[in-house]
Amino acid sequence: MDAGEPRSLLTVFARILAGELPASFVWQDDRCAAFLDINPVSRGHALVIPKRSVQHLSELTTEELAHLWQVAREIGSAQQAGLGSLGQHFLVNDGRAASQSVPHVHIHVIPRYRGDWVKT
Ligand code: 5GP
Repeated sequence: MDAGEPRSLLTVFARILAGELPASFVWQDDRCAAFLDINPVSRGHALVIPKRSVQHLSELTTEELAHLWQVAREIGSAQQAGLGSLGQHFLVNDGRAASQSVPHVHIHVIPRYRGDWVKT
């Protein structure tokens, strides 16, 4: 988030990071955070976001990108261990043309359970 950015221009995710809006965090470090989606596709559906407020994957540094995906992978593993999911969708809507509704990079980590997507 840029210092002095008008509050009205902040995305909901920047406002969550700033503590202005509530969220159920499942991860926090100096570069990224993850919290549960307000409208989950499945139980435990999480969003992993960089703390730097940018809209597109292309705006992240290689290091930021690698870290974000590493954390997403950790969260997928934690969902399997803690929730009993058997796999997960990692999904990025990258840009408005790709149905991105919140203009702040986010990876959806959507746990999949026995029989809820394909026959397992
Ligand atoms: P997109 O469509 O941009 O890929 O996904 C945005 C996601 O953000 C949606 O799944 C939506 O449910 C979630 N979302 C939107 N507003 C909020 C909010 O205020 N809190 C949380 N936790 N999730 C949100």
